[in-house]
Amino acid sequence: MLITERNDLLPINIGGEMRLGAGSESSTLYPATGEVVARLRAPSLEDVNEAIERADHAFRTSGWAQKKPHERAAVLYRVAQIIRERAEPLAQRQRLDNGKPISETRNLVASAAGTFQFFAAACETLEETLTPARGDYMTMSVYEPMGVVAAITPWNSPIASEAQKVAPALAAGNAVVIKPAEATPLMALELAAICEEAGVPKGMLSVLPGRGSVIGDAITKHPLVKRVSFTGGTSTGKHIAHIAADKMMPVSLELGGKSATMVLADADLDHAVNGVLFGIFSSSGESCIAGSRLFVARELYAPFMDRLSQRAAALRVGDPADERTQMGPLITAKHRESIEGYVAMGLGDGATLRTGGKRPEGALYERGYYYSPTILEGVQNTDAICQQEIFGPVLVAMPFDNEEALLEQANNSVYALAAGIWTKDYKRAWRIGRAVQAGTVWINTYKQFSISTPFGGWRDSGLGREKGRLGILQYMEQKAMYWGLNEQPLGWAN
Ligand code: NAP
Repeated sequence: MLITERNDLLPINIGGEMRLGAGSESSTLYPATGEVVARLRAPSLEDVNEAIERADHAFRTSGWAQKKPHERAAVLYRVAQIIRERAEPLAQRQRLDNGKPISETRNLVASAAGTFQFFAAACETLEETLTPARGDYMTMSVYEPMGVVAAITPWNSPIASEAQKVAPALAAGNAVVIKPAEATPLMALELAAICEEAGVPKGMLSVLPGRGSVIGDAITKHPLVKRVSFTGGTSTGKHIAHIAADKMMPVSLELGGKSATMVLADADLDHAVNGVLFGIFSSSGESCIAGSRLFVARELYAPFMDRLSQRAAALRVGDPADERTQMGPLITAKHRESIEGYVAMGLGDGATLRTGGKRPEGALYERGYYYSPTILEGVQNTDAICQQEIFGPVLVAMPFDNEEALLEQANNSVYALAAGIWTKDYKRAWRIGRAVQAGTVWINTYKQFSISTPFGGWRDSGLGREKGRLGILQYMEQKAMYWGLNEQPLGWAN
């Protein structure tokens, strides 16, 4: 039940105990109307310590880490099942939490269930290896859980991004402390409650919403926290990496992007137009993998841009509760101002506006943080508007003359998260796909995801990989074991 219905403060999960945090009060707002969805109190630093100490205690005493893999997996399968049973209320709550259209939040909830199912399977099928022995011993490589690990997540895809960290971390036998974004704490709280209901022992999962620079920082620095899995902005990621270096703590960092989408002269136009629109404007562009830099073969540029701009202007921006809505509001008024600032900067630097560049008008849009799908052109790849991550519905478009120039520009970015290629020529697709520097390359599709395929970025887009069967190993320490088989004592001491 949402707080607007109860007019109460929402308890948070401190080491398995549901209670009010002792920190400052904050409200989460529905981005479509600015109404308060929930009020809660952040944890104090003492609450953070308590949650982590309880997590450590639960890790050592609850028996979770000692369960046989198939027993832990059974609990995680149950988590997936409960998420599916409650899919619609969860999707509706997530819509309120971050204002994404209901069609998208349903997908995120389904993805979270799939993630738990996948890592349950990974858990019960994970093999430890017998390695070739080079002496009178048998050698093995095995994996152990780490203890308490932290999952720090942004506001753009709650439940799915939390599941991507919590499922493998629990599957590996760890206790987890989640720090969801202050703007979107509701789904992490739901997920923790579902995990407990499914059989994850109390204290193994805490949810500590609150300001990242205070709560996230304290979690990252805590000596009992053995790993941080972070998704968010590059500057925050670098800050966390510095703390991790001091602690000699492994981290995984899923960071920002400015991904190139390349439309070659022989592309199937229907596919390419739809793919480019989906790549940048779905999720209102609030997506790390948004295809925000578009390169189109010069001979195709004018007709392609005509079609693209007309279709962008016709996207259905509106009420996230409406099944037909393609783009909902942005997360906060402040974030919309930041996007407006970027567009003004681009225009100031000489870009021209192809479509959008303003807030949509009409009664529907008055209270929400809406912004129209925007396309800028007349830019150079080296311009600030082409290099900085905007994290909103803003596309920059440029023509290219040949493959060499295309690759030079596509790879000229501090980010290297994703790329898209549209062409019917599979040999060119292969060549460009291998030469483009990015953690994920989509060919004749875009923004498709599979939990079974590792994901992550190069350069300023991050460190490490999430997802994939081996994603569980991020949350485990590898250990070598030697079993002596000597008939005689070791000779050296003779
Ligand atoms: P952000 O400001 O870096 O915040 C991400 C999370 O980190 C939030 O929970 C935030 O808390 C917390 N945080 C902030 N400062 C911290 C600190 N000093 N120590 C520990 N935690 C701290 O990013 P955002 O603006 O929310 O999210 C947008 C960014 O995320 C974009 O750059 C986007 O590309 C990136 N992203 C990347 C991926 C990927 O998989 N590569 C996926 C999604 C998003 P509060 O917000 O509560 O203060």
